[in-house]
Amino acid sequence: MQDNIFLKIIRKEIKTDFLYEDDEVLAFYDIHPIAPVHVLIIPKKPIQSIAQMSEEDSPIIGKMFWVARNIAKDLNISEKGYKLLIRVGKDGGQEVPHLHLHLLGGARLAENIHPV
Ligand code: 5GP
Repeated sequence: MQDNIFLKIIRKEIKTDFLYEDDEVLAFYDIHPIAPVHVLIIPKKPIQSIAQMSEEDSPIIGKMFWVARNIAKDLNISEKGYKLLIRVGKDGGQEVPHLHLHLLGGARLAENIHPV
């Protein structure tokens, strides 16, 4: 897997404030938010996307959702609701080739899923 911006964040070569960190998972605010709350949750393991995950990665991906759920609670968006989004590959609109879960909330969000 080629180097990318999230691997640099994991290696702490790019200074980033973390909302959460453990041995497996990191969470931080998206640099270009598309919602009032926009957090990215990523695995530390270099997994390119859901398409490239293996069965043994399932617990890490479950952990990413658990962390998203807890951050949503901490940021007080849990009650009103939020969106969890994972883009996969080119047609899915994935730009950074390292698996990431978007936590989007703080406002009612439009669906906006159209072919380009
Ligand atoms: P994708 O389109 O691949 O699902 O999402 C990649 C996300 O990473 C985008 O929302 C983009 O704004 C975010 N991003 C790209 N580079 C950086 C960075 O250096 N720092 C942070 N915090 N977010 C980034």
